[in-house]
Amino acid sequence: MEHITTHPDLPLCAGCGRCCHLVVELRPGDSVPEALVVEHDGARCMDQHGDGACVALDPVTRLCTIYEIRPLTCREFNRGEALCRRILGLPPSPAAPAAP
Ligand code: SF4
Ligand code: SF4
Repeated sequence: MEHITTHPDLPLCAGCGRCCHLVVELRPGDSVPEALVVEHDGARCMDQHGDGACVALDPVTRLCTIYEIRPLTCREFNRGEALCRRILGLPPSPAAPAAP
């Protein structure tokens, strides 16, 4: 989702697209094409393919096809956050610097 933020302890965004396999609930102000929306228990969410991939995720490039109008939740997700680290199988936080 976020491909710009840099974190010294991480390689650049791996482009794995895993963060686009999560349920994204739409919030007030989000304006995505209705054809990409599904309702779960009364909540409007981005629709997903059987493998969990968001329907707006390009399966080849693994880029968001609606990047300019992506939901707020996607805008707030930063590479290197705990969720991304967990998805990538990394420890929850960077190793603390060694004591002097
Ligand atoms: S999970 Fe992290 S590394 Fe993978 S695409 Fe998302 S932001 Fe990039
Ligand atoms: S809307 Fe775009 S950034 Fe958000 S989950 Fe779908 S493909 Fe990823």
